[in-house]
Amino acid sequence: MPDRIYNFSAGPATLPYEVLTQAAKDIVNFRDKGIGLIEMSHRSKEFIGVVDECEALLRELLAIPADYKVLFLQGGASTQFAMVPMNLLRPGQSACYLNTGTWSKKAIKEAQLFGAVDVAYSSEASNFDHVPAPADYTVPAATEYLYFVSNNTIFGTQFHTMPATEKITVCDMSSDILSRPVDVSRFGIIFAGAQKNMGPAGCTLVIIREDLLDRAPDTVPTMFRYKTHADKGSMFNTPPCFAIYTVGLVLQWLKKLGGLTAIEKMNRDKAALLYDAIDASDFYRGHARKDSRSLMNVTFNLPTPELEAKFVSEATAASLDGLKGHRSVGGCRASIYNAFPREGVEKLVEFMGEFEKKNG
Ligand SMILES: *Cc1c(COP(=O)(O)O)cnc(C)c1O
Repeated sequence: MPDRIYNFSAGPATLPYEVLTQAAKDIVNFRDKGIGLIEMSHRSKEFIGVVDECEALLRELLAIPADYKVLFLQGGASTQFAMVPMNLLRPGQSACYLNTGTWSKKAIKEAQLFGAVDVAYSSEASNFDHVPAPADYTVPAATEYLYFVSNNTIFGTQFHTMPATEKITVCDMSSDILSRPVDVSRFGIIFAGAQKNMGPAGCTLVIIREDLLDRAPDTVPTMFRYKTHADKGSMFNTPPCFAIYTVGLVLQWLKKLGGLTAIEKMNRDKAALLYDAIDASDFYRGHARKDSRSLMNVTFNLPTPELEAKFVSEATAASLDGLKGHRSVGGCRASIYNAFPREGVEKLVEFMGEFEKKNG
């Protein structure tokens, strides 16, 4: 293995090295068949096998019930911001949203194009430093669905208890899907862009309960209807072949590690190293409230923006890359998804200690 830097990028994000090397091989010569992965027909027996394998692994790892469809779509998670209300809302109807960061705000804006939106909770006044507890909001009786973002990638907060309601529940799990077990049967729709915790950019996973496929009004264009893709096994048009294949490799890797219970344990352990270092210092201050801390994106500040810039630049020089916080919050952010190695977190903690000694 060549020298690899530690990549703390929020997405596209670090992938297991064995996945990268396998993908590199298969791009040129897929499973020694004499044809490259990205030049193969999506209707070939080989590629259909790839999609079937990927779906089967997802169903196994997430224990997806039989009455749910698994779709591999394009357009990124951002397209789902519109597709969800297009398919679930009719004029005059309303939906309930929990506003916990940039991604929920964008989703609210799209939903408003299709119906009325009740924002039952917002943590914007405290710069999205927490997510609500169940007692903090009420889902209106007349709402069609409750929408929330399980992990707020930019602000570093995460729901540790999933909102529970009788209503259809829609969740954007882009940045924590497959990081812990979830009870899929509690959701109507789960969606996630692959490029945070699941693979390369270009593929958006949608898990949808079958009874929701028939709700879309007739005015919804073909490509924006979940039913179109469900009926054709994500092959209505050319799917994102390379991305689906690579997600499949990541799932194989995850299964070998022991699945979601095992990875959750590893994620907790990695995040604790970093949060303990932050809590032990007055120099570093965590952005998220303790009860809302994300196991995937750890956000923190230093005493001044100048020190933050110096920290990021010296860390980069020490092969700790991608630690600059999102432009909307500033500060620093360490994204430590499933594939991020514990060793990299240890190196960062060590670096933080030395940096504080020199600059504190
Ligand atoms: C990155 C991200 C998105 C946007 O994903 P795209 O695939 O770039 O559209 C949406 N939601 C969350 C939670 C994200 O982290």
